[in-house]
Amino acid sequence: MGSAAAYHLAARGKRTLGLDRSAPPHNLGSHGGLTRMTRLVYAEHPDYVPLLQRANELWRRLERDTGRTIMQTTGGVYIGPESSRYISGAIESATRHGLPFEALRAGEIAARFPWFRAPSGSVAIADPGAGFLFPHTAIDAQLHLARASGADIHTNEPVLDWHADTAGVRVRTARATYHADRLILAGGAWMPKLLAQSGQGGTPAIKLTVTRQTLAWVDPPDPGLFALGKLPVWAFTLDGATVYYGFPITPGGEGGAGLKLAHHAPLVPTDPDTDPRKATADDAVPVLAFLRDHMPQALGPVLDQQVCLYTNTADDHFVIDLHPGKPNIVIASPCSGHGFKFASVIGEILADLAESGSTRHDIRFLSAGRF
Ligand SMILES: Cc1cc2nc3c(=O)[nH]c(=O)nc-3n(C[C@H](O)[C@H](O)[C@H](O)COP(=O)(O)OP(=O)(O)OC[C@H]3O[C@@H](n4cnc5c(N)ncnc54)[C@H](O)[C@@H]3O)c2cc1C
Repeated sequence: MGSAAAYHLAARGKRTLGLDRSAPPHNLGSHGGLTRMTRLVYAEHPDYVPLLQRANELWRRLERDTGRTIMQTTGGVYIGPESSRYISGAIESATRHGLPFEALRAGEIAARFPWFRAPSGSVAIADPGAGFLFPHTAIDAQLHLARASGADIHTNEPVLDWHADTAGVRVRTARATYHADRLILAGGAWMPKLLAQSGQGGTPAIKLTVTRQTLAWVDPPDPGLFALGKLPVWAFTLDGATVYYGFPITPGGEGGAGLKLAHHAPLVPTDPDTDPRKATADDAVPVLAFLRDHMPQALGPVLDQQVCLYTNTADDHFVIDLHPGKPNIVIASPCSGHGFKFASVIGEILADLAESGSTRHDIRFLSAGRF
């Protein structure tokens, strides 16, 4: 979110300073793990759809401007109980926005998507607009263009505290103190700490929970069945709440060696400064059990695992807004484990909010005030 905002602000001719405690892209925060799913039919809330349509335009523009591959459109399939919000929300968002989609019943699912064993009573939604992104390339491309437009990007420079008043903002880092008109806070899993850093009190009442999540790559007996071009991106919920999801195998290993999958569920609360970022054999147990029961041809030895952090809000929707009470501070992220696909448009929105305090995008459902 920070690199996207820096890119948009610098491209608009604004004097821009980007500060990061590490050197993005990296594997310490929320964007590690080589691939990120993107969907258009969005069960979580129909208002995400126009943001996704703009996000995809911006990802394609970034590809054109840098000559790099950032987004692969593979189509997607989302499987779940017919009665679940995951299915009804997907149909609602597609219908409301006139998106192409298909809804298939259990018998049809096996014929069309032979990788999956869906319980009776399941429905599958086929979303031709889905695919995946390469987050490291996306971040690198945005930082490259930000620098080319004159942004100063300071890596390995942690922000220690900040102060905002009517005259502007002051940011103290491990190296220097900077003054600016506006400050965008897009610290991912460190947002609870960044929001509390002002020392001025008045931390907005946004309860954020940082959780440790894991990703796994397995080696199916016949990897060709799951290759890019055959397997779409997929998401599968058994209980209507937590979701298993995964990606096709990329030909050059850009998405990691093997078949990548994960369990989207609020896992173990953690602290980004002390979490050891080490996955264990126990972490792979739920995804292996899922494969055994619902994607048996994919079951194989675990090749790799990675830890990544979610920053969750109470309702799992993002917070993209001006800081309540400090209008020269813009708050971004808390993306509850589904934000990367939006990073390009969120960068545009953050730049709008920093520049004028408002945006043409409808982000009322992401307001800080809802808490
Ligand atoms: C396992 C996993 C799977 C996911 N899968 C998907 C998916 O398939 N699709 C999808 O759309 N989304 C997915 N997400 C969510 C998505 O990756 C995140 O929403 C997104 O990366 C959040 O971006 P961010 O910029 O907020 O955080 P980050 O990318 O973590 O960036 C925050 C940055 O702030 C810096 N920072 C923090 N504190 C300070 C400080 N004090 N001073 C200076 N710099 C600081 C950090 O170093 C870091 O670089 C997934 C997340 C995880 C963890």
